[in-house]
Amino acid sequence: MTVTAHGALPDLTYDVVIVGAGVVGCAIARELARHRRLRIALVEAQDDVGQGTSKANTAILHTGFDAVPGSLEARLVREGSRRLALYAAESGIPVEPVGALLVAWDREQLAVLPELAAKAEKNDYRQARVLGPDEVYAREPHLGPGALGALHIPGESIICPWTTTLAYATQAVRHGVDLHLDCRVERADDGVLRTSRGTLRTRHLVNAAGLYSDELDRRLGHHDFTVIPRRGQLLVFDKFARALVRHILLPVPTALGKGVLVAPTVYGNVLLGPTAEEVDDKTATGSTEEGLALLRDRGRRILPELLDEEVTAVYAGLRAATEYDDYRIRVHSDQAYVTVGGIRSTGLTASMAIASHVTGLLAACGLDLGEADDLEPVRLPNLGEAFPRPYQRPELIAADPEYGTLVCHCERVSRGEIRDALASTIPPHGLEGLRRRTRARGGRCQGFYCGAAVRELFEGRS
Ligand SMILES: Cc1cc2nc3c(=O)[nH]c(=O)nc-3n(C[C@H](O)[C@H](O)[C@H](O)COP(=O)(O)OP(=O)(O)OC[C@H]3O[C@@H](n4cnc5c(N)ncnc54)[C@H](O)[C@@H]3O)c2cc1C
Repeated sequence: MTVTAHGALPDLTYDVVIVGAGVVGCAIARELARHRRLRIALVEAQDDVGQGTSKANTAILHTGFDAVPGSLEARLVREGSRRLALYAAESGIPVEPVGALLVAWDREQLAVLPELAAKAEKNDYRQARVLGPDEVYAREPHLGPGALGALHIPGESIICPWTTTLAYATQAVRHGVDLHLDCRVERADDGVLRTSRGTLRTRHLVNAAGLYSDELDRRLGHHDFTVIPRRGQLLVFDKFARALVRHILLPVPTALGKGVLVAPTVYGNVLLGPTAEEVDDKTATGSTEEGLALLRDRGRRILPELLDEEVTAVYAGLRAATEYDDYRIRVHSDQAYVTVGGIRSTGLTASMAIASHVTGLLAACGLDLGEADDLEPVRLPNLGEAFPRPYQRPELIAADPEYGTLVCHCERVSRGEIRDALASTIPPHGLEGLRRRTRARGGRCQGFYCGAAVRELFEGRS
């Protein structure tokens, strides 16, 4: 198992190098790892997997009911959703099939619901059903006044995006993929990659660089698309708000996107967001006064009592939107190169299907895949509130009291879980990475009480 974060890179020629260890790059690495004779590297500019858009989204496992029928995205979201739901059950990724209600607040929106139900059918999703106001309020008693009806999409689920990315990467590494962190690809030319840690050679290249996929694509001579970062700001409400909402509450979509939603999280919080703002800076993940005011305004209409609850955190993610309405997955056979660009607001859901699609494209441009084996399953620690956590499992605590010693009391994270994360296949390189693996420091105190203790464990001082 090879995970490197510094030092010289291996002096060999890989069959495939994947640039970018977001949820998409990790899914591709995992899919390729099934082909044991391939030598594969996953290369990431930052110090951990899932540090880009993949760590900051709304964490919904979409059905794809509202995708553009016939698009590549529609197909990959549909397939990806089914595959990821099965994979999650196998790997311990928390998923809750809470369903969504697309709420109509005026007559115009109400009139659109049957059209959306018909669109869902075109996308092979047949469970969507229009509900009248009584049923809507029976399902969501705290919904703001004035809802005229809703489209119920029972198949929409909430999922843990951090565990998903980590599960893919862990399985890939355990099956022989080399993960090189802190390794930014600066130039790419004819199978030779110049990186911040030296040179890498490869026969095939996959560009899964997210927001930067257009720039790498240009360095390889293509001008196919431009990433126009679309920022989404979100508010995270404390766990006391969780009882206010049962479904994912979606607005009727507009040309600008899916709009502002209220959704439970698998960690027991409630999300309000995201905004949709085009920005010209690929690092602009800050929040703004206007953005948060807009969210509060929208949220007040959807779930008025939510606004009385306390906010635990605020964050923002950048979607890799482009000038096109679909993913920009392109194969350049002469360069043995596949671009996986424009994976905008559905990449978490579609990740496993994108990975199969890209594997097929690599084979079409000359990669001899060889036999595909089944992968040894992975089992990631459970971060979800709907399933027993270690502190709730007496048999586990009896066998190992470290699981009964809480370090982070807001999120109820034990010393045992922190110890396990630090000794895992892909250990965190910082406290944020540790948070994504355990939830430590992610609760209402945001590390005020547990921060020093968590840091000591991280630094190996206690
Ligand atoms: C607000 C918001 C809400 C969303 N909600 C959902 C949702 O509910 N459901 C859903 O399915 N999807 C959702 N998405 C979309 C989803 O998060 C993305 O589609 C997905 O995370 C994209 O993954 P990625 O691997 O392509 O990109 P990233 O996660 O950004 O990964 C790309 C990686 O490439 C690395 N990289 C870049 N350049 C280089 C280089 N030169 N060398 C080495 N490494 C490099 C980066 O550091 C980064 O880690 C949402 C997105 C946002 C922003």
